[in-house]
Amino acid sequence: MTVEKNKNSDCFKVAVRCRPLSNIEIQDGRDSVVSVNSQRGEILIKPNNDPAERLIIFTFDEVLGPDTQQDTVYQSIAYPIVESALEGYNGTIFAYGQTGTGKTHTIQGKNDPICERGIIPRSFEHIFRSIKGTSNTQFLVYASFIEIYNEEIRDLLSNNSKHLQLREKPETGVFVKDLTSFLVQNEQELNNKFMQGIQNRIVGQTKMSSCSSRSHSIFSVTIEKCEVLNGESHVKVGKLNLVDLAGSERQSKTQATGSRLKEAVHINLSLSTLGNVISSLVDPKATYIPYRDSKLTRILQDSLGGNTKTAMIANIGPADYNCDETISTLRYAHRAKSIQNHAQINEDPKQALIKKFQDEISSLKQQLSGL
Ligand code: ADP
Ligand code: MG
Repeated sequence: MTVEKNKNSDCFKVAVRCRPLSNIEIQDGRDSVVSVNSQRGEILIKPNNDPAERLIIFTFDEVLGPDTQQDTVYQSIAYPIVESALEGYNGTIFAYGQTGTGKTHTIQGKNDPICERGIIPRSFEHIFRSIKGTSNTQFLVYASFIEIYNEEIRDLLSNNSKHLQLREKPETGVFVKDLTSFLVQNEQELNNKFMQGIQNRIVGQTKMSSCSSRSHSIFSVTIEKCEVLNGESHVKVGKLNLVDLAGSERQSKTQATGSRLKEAVHINLSLSTLGNVISSLVDPKATYIPYRDSKLTRILQDSLGGNTKTAMIANIGPADYNCDETISTLRYAHRAKSIQNHAQINEDPKQALIKKFQDEISSLKQQLSGL
């Protein structure tokens, strides 16, 4: 008998999404150099659309062409990860790519029309629809939202613009100290928190004259689930990170000077460290993984080669003038294909809030009965 091994793509999946040519690109007479064979998971690039140029073919776990709707992206990439988070696994979805290729469209989308919603609002609906359908199980759902800009961490759910620091404890791993975390009761509350965070992000960026394409954002939803089995309660905790990365374009194109250059160095630090972490993880000779070299990779450490089900979505544009950046994104994503994650259900972790609340309730009950 042959035993089929768990496919690695269950724990680390790399997908590519190619957006359509924009109206401006069409008006400018731009050609598409990208074609897609979704069935075979292939992306084909014809550099300069020159018949003499060699066709470059990349294969990925999933390839989503320009006609792919938001719902299909959710079903094929996000749905399995959110289902796993509801069972107590950690899950991360991150969008990587050049500015203007559809990272924010994919992760966040637009609320109007409703079919344009991205992965984040769809995951909220998914989580609360699943929770409603269960009995004999208690759930706690809480959310936090950060931005990393110039290697500084900002809490998007707080009015305090203080920069937050990273800390590490053996039982929790790396965490953001003093980060606001909101308990939410339903989809609407979660949506409100998300919208509030987006608004804070825009206000902060206006104050600092920065822009979202230069910062990374991470929206995290933690789902704690308490089931009673044979009279004993068991808590499972799944944490979902939904990440919209800064634009990956090379610096020469943006012609940075002064403070912009400082930004660029930092953005490159986080993104280039992400690249170095990916390279080390897939290099059998590597003895060290440089997670500690940037805030982003420290926070996402578990998502890269660790205890998380991760999907990386590489966003690309099809137009000829972006060909070099597109190939560079595809090469980056291609390297990540060999990352091995080992996800397991987080059962009865010491830091589970639900356990603390239950203990408090039973001690209050005891105090009341003693009155
Ligand atoms: P990024 O976050 O990577 O900088 P955006 O998500 O802001 O890029 O997308 C740039 C523009 O392209 C936006 O106007 C967005 O609505 C549009 N766009 C991106 N992806 C798609 C897509 N798959 N279909 C239609 N429009 C898209
Ligand atoms: Mg964006």
